[in-house]
Amino acid sequence: MESNVPTPKPQPLNPAVYLVGAGPGDPGLITVRGRDILMRADVVVYDRLVGAELLDLCRPDAEKVYVGKEASRHAMTQDEINALLVERAKAGQSVCRLKGGDPFVFGRGGEEALFCREHGIAFQIVPGVTSSIAAPAYAGIPVTQREVASSFAVVTGHTKDEEAPPPALPVADTIVFLMGVRALPKIVAQLVARGDSPDTPIALVRWGTTMQQQVVTGTLETIEAEVARAGLKPPALIVVGEVVRLRESLRWFDSRPLWGQTIIVTRAREQASGLVEGLQELGARVIQCPTIRVEALEDYSVLDGVLGELDIYDWIVFTSTNGVEQFWNRLRGRNLDTRALRNAQVAAIGPATANALEQHGLYADFVPESSISDDVAQGLLEHGVQGRRVMIVRALEGREVLQEKLSEGGAHVTVAPCYRTVPDNSNAATARELLTAGEVNWVTFTSSSTVKNFVDAIGAEVIQQARDSFRIACIGPVTARTARECALEPDAIAPAATVQSLIDVIR
Ligand code: SAH
Repeated sequence: MESNVPTPKPQPLNPAVYLVGAGPGDPGLITVRGRDILMRADVVVYDRLVGAELLDLCRPDAEKVYVGKEASRHAMTQDEINALLVERAKAGQSVCRLKGGDPFVFGRGGEEALFCREHGIAFQIVPGVTSSIAAPAYAGIPVTQREVASSFAVVTGHTKDEEAPPPALPVADTIVFLMGVRALPKIVAQLVARGDSPDTPIALVRWGTTMQQQVVTGTLETIEAEVARAGLKPPALIVVGEVVRLRESLRWFDSRPLWGQTIIVTRAREQASGLVEGLQELGARVIQCPTIRVEALEDYSVLDGVLGELDIYDWIVFTSTNGVEQFWNRLRGRNLDTRALRNAQVAAIGPATANALEQHGLYADFVPESSISDDVAQGLLEHGVQGRRVMIVRALEGREVLQEKLSEGGAHVTVAPCYRTVPDNSNAATARELLTAGEVNWVTFTSSSTVKNFVDAIGAEVIQQARDSFRIACIGPVTARTARECALEPDAIAPAATVQSLIDVIR
């Protein structure tokens, strides 16, 4: 959405090839330097093991080239990749070669760097968090531990020729095998043949550090059966050694309270971050299915008129965080700031709105306990708005109840629309598929409009057919009432009508 706040323009990168480690999957595990280059590069050449979220950081005009890399299916051969990197750099572009984990740990980064050197192309290496350490860590397995393991080795489990003898095993207390799922029987046989006890603990970690993380543990004797039972497939790594036992005590990532729960968030993206992050922190897989999008108004004349005579208002009521942000954007566009509101008392509906005001240095004089329009109006009337000028800052298509109640109570009300909401069906198809497949555990509603728009976007029939497979959480009584009107009985209602309260009831 349009904002009047200028964002600093990133400095262009020098033309070169930057071999960047993307980290093991969790987008938070890329390095600061890696992210910086990713955000600035002209071209991004990426592998399969790179998380989709990271690619959202690219410049909108950056060229993104997928070069694949599954054990058997390559979108591009290594020679083609090498040629591409050099060709783009020669043309004066900055190329971010984004690789899973660390570029020099079984990533063929060394080969690509050598090729650049041979062709006189400047290159830089940005190390990454390697999956060989990070995936065990997210499974609760430290690769070293005092008195348990004082060394670790990282080995490839992949041999070019299936018939060829596997490489000799290293001497180390912990061994991590990358690319070894298919070779698991060979690896186990080799370990037993060299004299390792059949009781030696072993774990496989698939898609470590991501929401799809899957961990299978066992001993050299049992692991093949365990892997078969779990149906575990590549990409996964194998950890062998006594440290695997520590998972029992150190398991953390996949034991969080909402791990394994798929939760649909219907709030507009612009407003959803608090809820999304709160649920993700607790381990949930969050599917955003916003049904509305916040957009700039086509016509600001009403708001501009109001901003031109701010002094005449006794009360200003902010109804949402969006209202606060857009109000200040417009204010700033007129070279005004918070001081322009010095004559008015200020009300904020909901603690999030009050918080947004505080970000602009304004402490609300009144934050009603309840966000229901009747209660808000009642509270304002008790604060003496009769005969006073009251401005309501809100969306263009907001509800009229508050305005009507205040007018009835004798206030002179002006509505100042700051933004509008438009339908957004961008992720409805994904949500519908997941609901139909019975993969959704919770659907969250944060306002009456999210309920209605969600039913419209997904289809009442689809929702009712899947209704037994998921639960519904509503942010407060008003939203719950709307849900009931749509034949969607809520399973949980947040008592405090706040995002935190909503997260708490789901938990
Ligand atoms: N350069 C990468 C490794 C590339 S080899 C790094 O440093 O992590 C690819 C292999 O790494 C996969 O076959 C798998 O064994 C392992 N791997 C990569 N990401 C993984 C992840 N998130 N979870 C488990 N194993 C992973």
